[in-house]
Amino acid sequence: MEYSIENIVNDQRNFFRSGATRSIDFRVQQLKKLRSVIKTYEEEMVEGIALDFKKSEFDTYTNELSILYHDLDEAIKKIKRWSKVQRVGTNLLNFPARSYIIPEPLGVALVIGAWNYPYQLSLAPIIPAIAAGCTVILKPSEIPSNTSRIMANMIANNFDHNFLAVVEGDVDTTTELLEQRFDKIFFTGSTTVGRVVYQAAAKHLTPVTLELGGKSPAFITENCSMKMSVKRLVWAKLLNSGQTCVAPDYIMVHHSVEKSFLEALKVEIEKTDYSLEAGTMVQIINDKNVERLAKLIDPAKIHYGGQVDRTNRFVEPTVLKGVSFDDPVMQEEVFGPILPVIVYHDLSDAIQQVKDLPRPLSCYVFTHDDQIKERVLRELSFGGGAVNDAMMHISNPKLPFGGVGNSGMGAYHGEAGFKSFTHYKSILDKPTWLEFGMKYYPQTPTKLKWIKRLLG
Ligand code: NAD
Repeated sequence: MEYSIENIVNDQRNFFRSGATRSIDFRVQQLKKLRSVIKTYEEEMVEGIALDFKKSEFDTYTNELSILYHDLDEAIKKIKRWSKVQRVGTNLLNFPARSYIIPEPLGVALVIGAWNYPYQLSLAPIIPAIAAGCTVILKPSEIPSNTSRIMANMIANNFDHNFLAVVEGDVDTTTELLEQRFDKIFFTGSTTVGRVVYQAAAKHLTPVTLELGGKSPAFITENCSMKMSVKRLVWAKLLNSGQTCVAPDYIMVHHSVEKSFLEALKVEIEKTDYSLEAGTMVQIINDKNVERLAKLIDPAKIHYGGQVDRTNRFVEPTVLKGVSFDDPVMQEEVFGPILPVIVYHDLSDAIQQVKDLPRPLSCYVFTHDDQIKERVLRELSFGGGAVNDAMMHISNPKLPFGGVGNSGMGAYHGEAGFKSFTHYKSILDKPTWLEFGMKYYPQTPTKLKWIKRLLG
């Protein structure tokens, strides 16, 4: 039987209201089931993503599946602690009483995924949603059609749609989904579509987590370990062919080390056979993005690479030098293997130029100078980042992951994810054997004196 979107939402709401998801045992059972389902489908998932954009088994395991297994194991292990009622102190005014906070699931959640890490970005948010006790409708990105179909099958074949369902489709389907009333929307994607989602959510006052993108800078300063910095940068930039939300988007390099940096980049890229055949690059997701990237390569500014193979949807690792903030490559998130390099003379000016752009998802600073490090970390606002590394901050599950401003709102992974699907209900619990009369009428000068003493 075919269910309409409205039916699925209504069925999930009824299921949620039945209280079935309140039990921690139920949630643990579902998380364990999800883990074993992913394990069962692992081979199919690896094959599907290879069909979509030639992603290798190694990358699929390390950047997608292992993250899911880790998040699942952590949620299963810590769910009791996360969902425990938290006792807090009670102030004198309310004496005698107990005060506590009850975590409760928000309800029916909608998770919308992006295409660049299709398994991770679709399935990772549903882990905290299940752990928190929500029901979930997942809408994976339609662009990698094989991964979307595999996720739809694996969920439909193993889960009750009242609890967990996948709705596949394009913009029209997402638009229809967004017309429904959800209790939580968790969106990963572009800032432009993030705005559409936020507007739709506002109609129902639905809380949102928005995991968006942006132009993440990396600073190469005059006193960094050049070889190591470049090694880490090149790996981070070229992983997934640069189609990573936290990839270093552009470089701010101090003028005194520009030459050695550009040379080191060339040497580092040439150490590896970056190609589809070698499995070190993936395809650009579709023709539209190949064309978009091709337009960002200014032939006059190519320091390295620059070749675009349209037949195979492949863009060579490319470094652009002498770039300015007015260049086309600086007008949008690159989201591909093109690295623009901008020279700066004065750190204050460089920080100001980065500040003039919308707040990015990440920022990286390569330096041994604590003063420079502190200035970049404190003066710039961004989602998260790393010092003397790039992207690896997201591999520490103890660091919540999320953006700020145009790069998003809210965070997830670990307890942060659980919190984003949870409402924390504050309770003051009073016995009836004692009552001070101060708040009651009549209001007398003596009572006021006491109240001033108590409230300060
Ligand atoms: P996108 O915004 O185009 O699409 C994301 C999702 O929104 C898809 O499921 C798509 O079907 C849906 N969608 C597209 N247009 C829509 C519309 N008009 N109305 C309603 N829904 C619509 O993003 P993308 O191309 O899949 O991903 C790339 C972007 O996502 C980049 O900007 C990247 O930085 C960002 N991103 C962020 C994170 C993060 O965790 N912060 C992770 C990955 C990607």
